[in-house]
Amino acid sequence: MSKIEAFISREEEQEIISAIKVAEKNTSGEIRVHIEASTEKNHDERALEVFYLLEMNKTKDKNAVLIYVAVKDKKFVICGDKGINKLVPEGFWTTTKDIMQNHFKQGNFKQGIVDGILKAGEELKEHFPWQIDDEDELSNEISKG
Ligand code: CA
Ligand code: CA
Repeated sequence: MSKIEAFISREEEQEIISAIKVAEKNTSGEIRVHIEASTEKNHDERALEVFYLLEMNKTKDKNAVLIYVAVKDKKFVICGDKGINKLVPEGFWTTTKDIMQNHFKQGNFKQGIVDGILKAGEELKEHFPWQIDDEDELSNEISKG
């Protein structure tokens, strides 16, 4: 177990959870955040592994998005489900990634994650607008590695 608390304070964690709630008011897509210190694996592979571990492949519209962050490695991966990939153009996540990258470069992890979540929500809105019968299909809590 890694000490994620060294990177993200309780207050920052709450801010991230709030950002997920705000983002999910725009879209039926489900956003989750996983934070760990580092991994031996390829970050894309590890993100996909976490995606399945968290059973994020089980949403109704296959529109879950995982923001995976390996803080010590200074790496992050945005991993969207099939339903999203089917509908969106290539490079769909580029804007979100750029926003996150800029904050991460300055060691500003919390803000990078928060802004990434909010941007992802806006981007998803166009393809997966929020529905009146929306369910919170996946927990908004941060998953920690
Ligand atoms: Ca939802
Ligand atoms: Ca949720």
